[in-house]
Amino acid sequence: MTELLLAGGGHTHALLLRRWARRPGGRPAARITLVSRAALTPYSGRLPACLAGRCSLAAASLPLASLCAAAGVAFVPAEIRGLDPRGRRLQLAPPLGPRTYDLLSLDVGAEVPLPPPALTGGAPLLPIRPAAPVLAALEGLAPGAAVAVFGGGASAVEVAFALVVRGCRVSLHPRGSGLWQAFAAPLASAGIALVQGPAAAGTALALACTGARLPAWLASSGLSQAAGGRLAVEPDLTVAGWPQVFAVGDAALVRGAERPPAGVWAVKAAPRLHHNLRRRLAGQPLRPWRPPGRAVQLLGDGRGRAWLLPAPGCGGQPLGPSRLLGLWKQALDGAFLARLQP
Ligand SMILES: Cc1cc2nc3c(=O)[nH]c(=O)nc-3n(C[C@H](O)[C@H](O)[C@H](O)COP(=O)(O)OP(=O)(O)OC[C@H]3O[C@@H](n4cnc5c(N)ncnc54)[C@H](O)[C@@H]3O)c2cc1C
Repeated sequence: MTELLLAGGGHTHALLLRRWARRPGGRPAARITLVSRAALTPYSGRLPACLAGRCSLAAASLPLASLCAAAGVAFVPAEIRGLDPRGRRLQLAPPLGPRTYDLLSLDVGAEVPLPPPALTGGAPLLPIRPAAPVLAALEGLAPGAAVAVFGGGASAVEVAFALVVRGCRVSLHPRGSGLWQAFAAPLASAGIALVQGPAAAGTALALACTGARLPAWLASSGLSQAAGGRLAVEPDLTVAGWPQVFAVGDAALVRGAERPPAGVWAVKAAPRLHHNLRRRLAGQPLRPWRPPGRAVQLLGDGRGRAWLLPAPGCGGQPLGPSRLLGLWKQALDGAFLARLQP
């Protein structure tokens, strides 16, 4: 039987599992396995609430292992270390060995490029993802400890707001221009220091929210890359030149549907990935992904209010903050998490 391997339990794959659990008849005709780091995967919309100390990581996560069980998909909790697309092998960390496939779908998210350690004022430096080590480090901090957040995009700003709610003394360290500029006043009124430079001595923890790049094992796999370092993906969601490899989410840049790395696009790709996996297995022609031009993106202030962000590249100012937008964000995130219970 054909082996379909799902690598990474990102937003798109989680939605596929839920779909197959609800409608087993729609499941692709293959032996399907999901390999992902852990049985739970954090849902980005709720990650700031965890960082603020307002909910547990489990309550803000998608239950991958249970979804797999409900969908009739084998779940292998493992760290992926490499990919050999010519040999059709995914390399898993010991004690597991290589795993072969006929068809591979990648939804592994992205890696955060770290700022130089010299900028952190001697503090330990962690990427914002994976979330579990970040939460463990925050739990070990004394009340009022200084935390430096590196980055100037939406996730850096939202993380900074969340950490203030947690009781940390927060500084935000953007480089160059960015979304942070539109938030200079609200950041200042939340007591967040804006610093274009290194963290002060005495900083207890530095967190990097400094963008997204391909995980190193994927970057060195030989799969085609687009400018900007994401996988070059065809409109039908296959990697350019590799018809047996599909890719979605932050790791993929889809030709003709170039979107910034954000969970909302990983969510929107799920129906097309489902149909194209089925079509490929049935020997039928694939169809292109045609996402909408923009999607709603809300940024929370950690205190129940939110801003509506302008579409990337369109200029304009965020709308808000308001409680109504905050309630909308909570409702959207709550509905998404509820939808993904098996
Ligand atoms: C604080 C914060 C807030 C955010 N808020 C929003 C928001 O409100 N809206 C929005 O659209 N986006 C938001 N984002 C961005 C969003 O998190 C990402 O764009 C989104 O998670 C990408 O989804 P994905 O499906 O590509 O992969 P991910 O959700 O990153 O999932 C990748 C999966 O693959 C697994 N994995 C990765 N590497 C390996 C490996 N080597 N071995 C095994 N398993 C592996 C991971 O464990 C995970 O299960 C936010 C990001 C942050 C940091």
